[in-house]
Amino acid sequence: MSTVTAASLRSQDQEQEDRAPGEGPIRLSPSRASDYKTCPQLFKYRAVDRLPEPTSIYSTKGTMIHAALEQLYMMQPEERTLKTAHAHMLQAWENLKSDEQYDALQLDPEEEAQWLEHGMGLLDNYFQVEDPSAVAPHEMEWWVEHHTESVMLRGIIDRVEVAPDGGWILSDYKTGRSPSETYALGSFFGLKFYALVCWRTFGKMPALLRLIHLREPEIITLVPTQQMLTGLEKQLHALAQAIQRAHNRDDWRPRVGPLCNWCPHKSICPAFETSPDTSREPDHAAAKSK
Ligand code: SF4
Repeated sequence: MSTVTAASLRSQDQEQEDRAPGEGPIRLSPSRASDYKTCPQLFKYRAVDRLPEPTSIYSTKGTMIHAALEQLYMMQPEERTLKTAHAHMLQAWENLKSDEQYDALQLDPEEEAQWLEHGMGLLDNYFQVEDPSAVAPHEMEWWVEHHTESVMLRGIIDRVEVAPDGGWILSDYKTGRSPSETYALGSFFGLKFYALVCWRTFGKMPALLRLIHLREPEIITLVPTQQMLTGLEKQLHALAQAIQRAHNRDDWRPRVGPLCNWCPHKSICPAFETSPDTSREPDHAAAKSK
């Protein structure tokens, strides 16, 4: 099997993406842009300080699924069976076990078995929403970037197909929970980001964006429009300017919210500092005033 996997590509992506602001155009991927929107302090920890983060079982599972599907689509259509997909998943797991990331997961045998069973279940679900033998990917794990003087937009598209009429179809595999109707449009942020990069780089606006949710499983689609993507482009330029200002002033404000409970840097975050006479966590208003 090839050793070029989604896992290795995503690792390279992370290394290149995480260069600090102030070294040329602001580099933004969908995840870094989301970080800043969620919490500027979190962005600083990740993109400026480049602090290490513990390996997460959730992100590792996503990486393994991406690697298994990437390998599956390297095979001939008639060979893309569920059994083969499971074999690729097991191989990806064996590769991971020889990596130091695995030690960080600290799984006991029972947890490892559950972990694998759940990962295999996601692959089973995938076969419920798509027939891999009928899909003809044009690109997989495709690195794309677009830059202007002030911002560089970049990242990896999971899969690109070309429809019979020549339209590009971008797909993104998701292993997390499918969003409610209220948040469905927002969940397309990453794919709209990539549609914008394709449009600006290749002069080709993708015809369809597809979120393939493996848990439910279901596929949610969106047709991008010129108005939608130019609006996003303005937002991203404004975001890059805000990041540059924050960098120039070294002013990265923590934004306390529900995601703090999963933040790997909560223990050092100024919004959760304790003083000798109080051990209470600050309320939202106090955190925002910092
Ligand atoms: S703990 Fe919350 S406020 Fe602090 S960096 Fe993390 S997400 Fe931001």
